[in-house]
Amino acid sequence: MAISFEPNPATVSGKDEMHEIALRHMRPISRKYDDQEHEMPWEYVRPMWDRATGKAGKTEAGPGDGMVTVCVQTEELCWGDAGLYLRTPSPLLGGSAVAAAGTPAQRERFLAPFRTGEPKWGAMAITEPQAGSDAAAIQTTAVFDEKSNEWVLNGTKIFCTAGDGALEYEGGIVVVWATVDKSAGRAGIKSFVVTAGTPGVKVVGCEKKLGIRASDTATLVLEDCRVPADNLLGKAEVKKKGPGEGDKGFKGAMATFDASRPIVAAMAVGVGRAALDFVKEELERQGVAIRYDAPPREQTAIERDVIEMEAELQAARLLTWRAAKMLDRGQRNNLEASMAKAKAGLVVTKITQKAVELLGPQGYSKKLLVEKWMRDAKINDIYEGTQQINQLIIARRILDYSSSVLR
Ligand SMILES: Cc1cc2nc3c(=O)[nH]c(=O)nc-3n(C[C@H](O)[C@H](O)[C@H](O)COP(=O)(O)OP(=O)(O)OC[C@H]3O[C@@H](n4cnc5c(N)ncnc54)[C@H](O)[C@@H]3O)c2cc1C
Repeated sequence: MAISFEPNPATVSGKDEMHEIALRHMRPISRKYDDQEHEMPWEYVRPMWDRATGKAGKTEAGPGDGMVTVCVQTEELCWGDAGLYLRTPSPLLGGSAVAAAGTPAQRERFLAPFRTGEPKWGAMAITEPQAGSDAAAIQTTAVFDEKSNEWVLNGTKIFCTAGDGALEYEGGIVVVWATVDKSAGRAGIKSFVVTAGTPGVKVVGCEKKLGIRASDTATLVLEDCRVPADNLLGKAEVKKKGPGEGDKGFKGAMATFDASRPIVAAMAVGVGRAALDFVKEELERQGVAIRYDAPPREQTAIERDVIEMEAELQAARLLTWRAAKMLDRGQRNNLEASMAKAKAGLVVTKITQKAVELLGPQGYSKKLLVEKWMRDAKINDIYEGTQQINQLIIARRILDYSSSVLR
């Protein structure tokens, strides 16, 4: 499938603007918020919110601008700092879920506040102590109370990115996955919007992490948390049909990943590029030139390493843009989104490790950000489907096996 990636003028100017933000508002505070985990980085949040609400400069790209543009801009911001990027005041994954499964009225109700007022955040809570990769095993329940016309949610959600910000600041949203009928398996899983300030939901802690430490990764407890009937995204009806059927609601919820995986892949490419750019600058400073046109037998080990890093990064970026472009065209991109995510997660892990290795003790020292990028890299191979899960999805799609056959 031939796809042209000729960037349009909006993509180019958006890229430049995000690069400027990365240089001015992210890199200078990267180390500070890596050290001061969970603290709100207002120096970054304020200018980003002013942009999002049109008070300063242009708005950051959203899905309406095209997913390729979103990916290009995401790469730039994560070149700046991936942890801070995840603190960008925006609907984030919660927004992707509302956009994918909500009605036009729900989109307006939950997403319009993100264009005005004070900074706010969105999040998506799927993972539970006993369910992550196997999202269909979630135990959080949603019971409908006919008298009050409300859903009553009970359960515990862990590792919820931006969950703390989403529930602490007015107008924030968390999209919570819960089962309305355990006996229905996947068909019983629905998603519900819980807004900040709703009684019965609380953040009980934030995870201390290896990397992306500026990002708040929260544990949420829902105890008789009541949300209005129309906070359910999609239909309440549970269709129990024959084998392989009846899980359309679940599939709809999973479709959120088709949009979010290319973005995570773009995040990975941004972190990998940060490390590679730094290595190349350092080599140049030391007078080491990379001879791209030298025959392989004459290349030094460092030249081979750098060329391989560049090739791998470019391959990951092209897979990312392909998955994004297919989404823009309305094509099914489930296979391509997993390919991009699996490749980029692996590539960023390898590149950042190689960068530390090439720079020797300097790479390992906290004087530079390279060791931080190595720590920030690994998460791209874990969340939004681990490496193994994305490879499983790729295998299923290529071999045409169902999830019940290849698991
Ligand atoms: C920093 C961070 C942020 C996160 N943010 C969010 C968020 O915002 N919202 C949210 O809902 N979740 C979030 N998560 C959770 C994340 O998506 C899950 O941790 C991840 O999907 C893995 O699921 P699990 O924890 O159940 O691990 P497990 O499924 O127990 O995985 C453990 C290992 O087993 C492997 N494995 C599992 N099943 C298979 C299989 N069938 N075949 C082969 N290998 C398999 C996995 O690949 C992994 O290597 C976040 C996690 C982290 C660390």
